[in-house]
Amino acid sequence: ETIGANLDRAVAAFPDREALVDLATGRRWSYRELDRDVNRVALGLLALGVGRGDRVGIWAPNCAEWFLVQYATARVGAILVTVNPGYRTHELAYVLRQSGIRTVVAARSFKTSDYAAMLAEAAPDCPYLRDILLIGSPEWDALLAAGEAADPGQLTEIGAQLSPTDPINIQYTSGTTGFPKGATLSHRNILNNGYFVGELCHYTEADRICVPVPFYHCFGMVMGNLAATSHGACVVIPAPAFDPAATLAAVAAERCTSLYGVPTMFIAELNDPGFDGYDLSSLRTGIMAGSPCPIEVMKQVVERMGMRDVSICYGMTETSPVSTQTRTDDPLERRVSTVGRVGPHLEVKVVDPVTGATVERGAPGELCTRGYSVMLGYWEEPAKTAEAVDAGGWMHTGDLAVMDEEGYLNITGRIKDMVIRGGENIYPREIEEFLYTHPDIVDAQVIGVPDAKYGEELMAWIRLRPGAEPLTPEALRAFCAGRIAHYKIPRYVHLVDEFPMTVTGKIRKVEMREQAVELLG
Ligand code: ATP
Ligand code: MG
Repeated sequence: ETIGANLDRAVAAFPDREALVDLATGRRWSYRELDRDVNRVALGLLALGVGRGDRVGIWAPNCAEWFLVQYATARVGAILVTVNPGYRTHELAYVLRQSGIRTVVAARSFKTSDYAAMLAEAAPDCPYLRDILLIGSPEWDALLAAGEAADPGQLTEIGAQLSPTDPINIQYTSGTTGFPKGATLSHRNILNNGYFVGELCHYTEADRICVPVPFYHCFGMVMGNLAATSHGACVVIPAPAFDPAATLAAVAAERCTSLYGVPTMFIAELNDPGFDGYDLSSLRTGIMAGSPCPIEVMKQVVERMGMRDVSICYGMTETSPVSTQTRTDDPLERRVSTVGRVGPHLEVKVVDPVTGATVERGAPGELCTRGYSVMLGYWEEPAKTAEAVDAGGWMHTGDLAVMDEEGYLNITGRIKDMVIRGGENIYPREIEEFLYTHPDIVDAQVIGVPDAKYGEELMAWIRLRPGAEPLTPEALRAFCAGRIAHYKIPRYVHLVDEFPMTVTGKIRKVEMREQAVELLG
């Protein structure tokens, strides 16, 4: 099925149910109204000459128009390129050129980003770029007016020609480990993944999903938007970009049943000074994903936020994204300490990164995934695609994992983040989990830094609870002594207020390593 056909079914089944709420503007859409406005944008794009396979960029923080454009492009068979709202001119220009964007829909500006000015600056170097439509501008209004006047029968005709295996999305990876890569995804890839996320959370038309994670990333647009619309549920946008207080307020005011976030977002919400003042009793479920989910944080999400059915999902942009998930009926211990088991209709294996042979259960190796979710490829990068997806269709994730006898997986880190100290392989994740047990530590990230004697040494970057006494390296080492192996005790401690992060809320260890080298002089 295509995304357009799937939306048609929700519109027919739940015309009067709420589909979308944008709290920044207070606007609301029922499924019937959503259908009307999606068609208006779709017909407007057709009137501009946008057709099947053309790349349409969307560059905006979370807002209702983003959502409309997502479904409008799916209905006309255009390929939506989701542009990171944190980009600056040179990154924007790269993406516009690399994916050959024809038409871009953008916010005028957001916070310190003047999107209009950056687009004007990048445009001369982008030969394919024809239309820049700033949301709310006269050009945008003209597109809506053209869409209003057009014959909606055109969409039915186009819909009948589209195939579920058509590319529908180019999503750039978060850029956590380097330069972002454009994963090309089909209707089949992402609609199935969104549908299965909705099944995992047992969504029905009564559910209201609070989505503070960015739409430009699959966590928002697939696990949020597609999971919702494939089940007739409602997406609530708390604010254009993540804000802990706005998120908690949205859950309370809109009686949300589900809440999403990467671990850093949940940590910020749990530590919000106003936390106890929000009525979160409507929350039932939700998803934590995107980076290692600390056990302590998971426990608090269940106990203090009441998200008793919360799931951890693991995945990556290249696999639409979800590959493994914890389920409500898994034992609580497993639900907070693993990324669960393989998702429906998918396969996973853990291999020796050198020989490619599947390792024994319990042994670490590179996680590989296969099935409907694996991307069509990196857009116009066949060499990189071949490196990532092998001839047998296995996506090599670059993540280290351990699978137990029952198939539960633990992600022990990224291959690139593994530290080798004096010949000993160290997984920073394990030390981070341990450091979380220190009463004054709110967040801890461990990296390897170059060392003449051992090759690499460990450095812990630590965020302390507000008002806590500064933690000296000696005090930290004393805390670790006898509790973790001596070679895993961080040699250096660096106290910080925040970590270098991607817009998706992931900690950029590459950047931490660069800064650490400077710090150590
Ligand atoms: P880039 O590929 O550009 O360096 P990225 O890998 O962070 O960036 P994404 O596709 O957004 O880009 O993220 C996928 C990665 O996020 C996974 O490969 C994994 O390392 C990490 N990840 C996702 N979910 C989890 C999870 N539940 N636990 C641990 N790690 C996770
Ligand atoms: Mg990646």
